[in-house]
Amino acid sequence: MNSENLFGECKKIIPGGVNSPVRAFGGVGGTPFFTRRADGCLIKTEDGKTLIDFVCSWGPAIFGHNNARIKNAIMNALENGTSFGTPCARELEMARLITSMVPCAEMVRMTNSGTESTMSAVRLARGFTKRDKIVKFSGCYHGHVDSLLVMAGSGAITFGTPNSAGIPNDFARLTIVLPFNDLQSLENCFKAQGSEIAAVILEPFPANVGLILPKKNYLEKLRMLCSEYGVVLIFDEVITGFRLSSGGAQKLLGITPDLCALGKIIGGGLPVGAFAGKREIMEHLSPSGDVYQAGTLSGNPLAMAAGAEALKMLKELNPYAELKSKADFIVSALKGAAKEKGIALQVPQAESLYSVFFNDEEVSNYDIAMRSSTKLYAKFFNKCLEGGVYIAPSAFEVSFMSLAHSKEYLERAAEVMVGALKSL
Ligand SMILES: *Cc1c(COP(=O)(O)O)cnc(C)c1O
Repeated sequence: MNSENLFGECKKIIPGGVNSPVRAFGGVGGTPFFTRRADGCLIKTEDGKTLIDFVCSWGPAIFGHNNARIKNAIMNALENGTSFGTPCARELEMARLITSMVPCAEMVRMTNSGTESTMSAVRLARGFTKRDKIVKFSGCYHGHVDSLLVMAGSGAITFGTPNSAGIPNDFARLTIVLPFNDLQSLENCFKAQGSEIAAVILEPFPANVGLILPKKNYLEKLRMLCSEYGVVLIFDEVITGFRLSSGGAQKLLGITPDLCALGKIIGGGLPVGAFAGKREIMEHLSPSGDVYQAGTLSGNPLAMAAGAEALKMLKELNPYAELKSKADFIVSALKGAAKEKGIALQVPQAESLYSVFFNDEEVSNYDIAMRSSTKLYAKFFNKCLEGGVYIAPSAFEVSFMSLAHSKEYLERAAEVMVGALKSL
């Protein structure tokens, strides 16, 4: 079956035809392609097409798809069984890797997704502080957690339902939403309600509304305010963790949160998440403390094998300069073409992450991001796809670079993307 037929069949028995909304191409039009297999930086579709992939499974494929070392690690683990429901030694290896790499991580608990990690980190912060309110920022996405699905990013924006149905107002009421990069509103909020706030949760580099860069000293000030008011600072590093540096955004910035949520890269392509942080907070988790959190498959040997292999490779290879220079190449090609053609384009970049906004203003918050042209993005996306380059199927997602993007494929991709821009 080709993608068109597969999607038609899926729509009959899977809501919207997909198991995660942004895959449906709602933001860019057309039928999503179905992937048959993926190797390195290439995706092969069920239609027999080969695409250069800049979505990289939404981040996890930092070494490219189907990496041999990760595959071997999974196969070796598989020999001994898939899930035990008892502790296993691989969990210790994983915990040691995470605590050695992530600055805030004195203790860590494994989960199966980013959503579980942010959900659990917020519960832990509430249990620890005995306060109910939390602060999030408009445009930041933290998975589909009830109290965090307020003014969230890409999927929700793309589908025009920033506040999902099914979330009681009473839950959302405890979530204070602030504009990112606005120091004054942060200070006002803390002055008025600081002693009632359990946690501030944010993506230190918001990357689910396109990419937004934190203004100078903004996160430093946030760190100080949280310390002053006894508020737990949670960095959601599900994207930025192991991506912006071996220790995530917190290591890159030199700002240590109290807790952080991890996902995506940490699983080496299998479904894994984790949350980690200060010992005095983490010890409040069950069974050592009174905040309940659990997972039947959490820490299972296959996921631990894949994740640990990925983290070991990051430690060994320290690939961050190389990843950044690959992103630099594409970003400068895009900027150059936009300038030449007189297209209002913003291409914010943080290390190997970047995004494309059709916008004449620098994008420093959600409101400005929302003024970007989604129409132009959809055209750009479809031109790229026609040319064999797959970028995020939403104007409000970032592009992911992998180590498997060779010079040859980067040059080919740049040519296609520049051509797509010039054709707009
Ligand atoms: C992807 C993502 C999540 C959710 O992770 P899932 O594994 O999809 O549940 C949470 N936070 C951020 C910043 C993400 O990008």
